[in-house]
Amino acid sequence: MAKIFCVANQKGGVGKTTTTVNLAAGLAKIGQRVLMVDLDPQGNATMGSGVDKRKLELTIYDVLLESATVAEARIRSEKCGYDVLGANRELAGAEVELVDLAHRDQRLKQALGAVTPDYDFILIDCPPSLSMLTLNGLCAAHGVIVPMQCEYFALEGLTDLVNTIKQVHANMNKDLQIIGLLRVMFDPRITLQQQVSDQLKAHFGDKVFNTVIPRNVRLAEAPSYGLPGVIFDPAARGSQAFVEFAAEMVARIQMM
Ligand code: ATP
Ligand code: MG
Repeated sequence: MAKIFCVANQKGGVGKTTTTVNLAAGLAKIGQRVLMVDLDPQGNATMGSGVDKRKLELTIYDVLLESATVAEARIRSEKCGYDVLGANRELAGAEVELVDLAHRDQRLKQALGAVTPDYDFILIDCPPSLSMLTLNGLCAAHGVIVPMQCEYFALEGLTDLVNTIKQVHANMNKDLQIIGLLRVMFDPRITLQQQVSDQLKAHFGDKVFNTVIPRNVRLAEAPSYGLPGVIFDPAARGSQAFVEFAAEMVARIQMM
């Protein structure tokens, strides 16, 4: 049975999508069966997995509105080694269309239920907001992975996210927990980053993943080739860090 994880942080551009696709590829590389769910109308995780969002016939939008099942809408990314439930701009409309529907926050959870035997991991790339879409992700998940840059304002934004996760845990999904904070785009030469990293460890203890993802230009170049860095340039430092992170995640789920 798959363990389901949201990659979430309401702050934009912090590395959610990079984390989702590279963790997916890293897990696939070490033999895990993975479904990557794109829950962001930007469709970056879809494109970054080599799937053209403009050519999709069925997407997560159809799944949320119950006009398709996950089994019908998922696509295999052969290059990446995992399955993709893609998204495109159409998904932005779901926010409004879901409002009047019953169990609107549980739609993704219900849909994924049917495919959990097919996978070891289901990873959900969330949009940069605490919206109905993100709520669907949080209600479906066993845990949240929070990528963050070690900058001054990062800690401030974290409070809102932690409170939202606590509320969802209390009222909608008692399985939900923060699995961990992932330090990304890290540059150890910058003193402030080192300080924020130390603060994070002091405050969140073992909720901070051991693996640190360095700032690495190969990770930033990979999406323009429709590939996660882990596939595009396996030897790059950033790619190796993500494979290490995949192994850390496999070890973590044994303890769940
Ligand atoms: P959004 O909130 O818009 O969905 P996001 O949180 O998903 O953004 P990404 O798209 O993953 O963030 O990353 C933002 C930018 O930073 C991208 O251009 C990406 O290529 C780059 N980037 C992410 N991680 C790294 C890294 N470790 N090293 C260098 N560049 C990175
Ligand atoms: Mg993104």
